[in-house]
Amino acid sequence: MVENALGPEDGDIIARPAKIPVPDNVAEAIRTLIRWTGDDPTREGLLDTPQRVARAWKEYCQGYGEDPGAHLSRVFEEVGGYDEIVLLNDIPFQSHCEHHMAPIIGTASIAYLPRNHVVGISKIARVLHGYARRLQVQERLTAEVADCIWTKLKPLGVAVVIKATHSCMTARGVRTPGVGMVTSRMMGVFREDERSRKEVLALMGF
Ligand SMILES: [Zn+2]
Repeated sequence: MVENALGPEDGDIIARPAKIPVPDNVAEAIRTLIRWTGDDPTREGLLDTPQRVARAWKEYCQGYGEDPGAHLSRVFEEVGGYDEIVLLNDIPFQSHCEHHMAPIIGTASIAYLPRNHVVGISKIARVLHGYARRLQVQERLTAEVADCIWTKLKPLGVAVVIKATHSCMTARGVRTPGVGMVTSRMMGVFREDERSRKEVLALMGF
């Protein structure tokens, strides 16, 4: 069957897995869900939906196929004496909550105070996406990103602040649009030293 419907995500820059085959039981599970919600999976508009949904989920959960820490294995010692905070502010990300498999959409601000080496700045975002592209809770995502940078770079401090809205709250249940959740994890000097913590939070815009 030829798949030609362009979904909203078809133009993005993320490496898409090639059209992977969708096992029958996976497609059937999605048909079952469609039937259970009240629609007819055999009507024309829904015929290819199980394949699309299955592949979309493989993409949402690409993080399972990678070790996010591997992005931090190449470091630069040559930092010209730079010993201040490195901050990547407001990185957009998307994840899915493990309780409802509903989108979590937000931004992360990630900072570290280098000990004597730095990484390419895009690598920090890759660590975030590596953990975000899994079924998550925001608290664990925050901790995993911070712990990964802490362990791999051995910096003097790490600060991660994540702001996100959870579709399971905004689109169902209590239906409270616009409510954001903020989580943070401070390690090293950002945890122990109040001045350093205030400095990094100010740089992040708090
Ligand atoms: Zn949820």
